[in-house]
Amino acid sequence: MRRSIYACMLITVLSSAAAAQTERRELGPHVHGSGTLNIVIEGNNVSMDLSAPANDILGFEHQPSTPEHEKILASAKAALEQPLTLIELPVAAGCKVETANVTFNAAEPAATAAPAKPAGESQHADFDVDYALTCAAPNKITQLSFAYFKQFAGAQKLAVTIVSDKGQTQYEVTRDKPVLTLK
Ligand SMILES: [Zn+2]
Repeated sequence: MRRSIYACMLITVLSSAAAAQTERRELGPHVHGSGTLNIVIEGNNVSMDLSAPANDILGFEHQPSTPEHEKILASAKAALEQPLTLIELPVAAGCKVETANVTFNAAEPAATAAPAKPAGESQHADFDVDYALTCAAPNKITQLSFAYFKQFAGAQKLAVTIVSDKGQTQYEVTRDKPVLTLK
């Protein structure tokens, strides 16, 4: 009797661990400090897609497990919902935010999830943020200034791709060189 209960519990634990494994999005190995930003300028519509390790944004990569973590997550989400304060565009471009969708991809907190993983096996989480903007004069987007690095202490660089009617161009902005001037 005891044995069958144990077997049953074991199966439950194993299957929930497997479920957690498949539910987690395949992130691939991300590099802490390093995020990506894709910007597409199409007529008056500007879309931005930011992806960054949660470590850059929060300093941790799991669901909040303390009130302190909750606070950090809430304030990070609030900051991410204001793209024009993170990525400053020339005022002359007349851009405004239409939508901002912030997604935090992280496993459940250790307390409620499957037994703690052995030390050394790291778990990763990241942020996926999509913005839709409209700009009255998108041709005036000649420079982007990344206050992002001031806001998020863990962020070191962003690989930026800009797609417009002029083609596709790659840039890199860093904590030391946070201003991007369009070629
Ligand atoms: Zn990570």
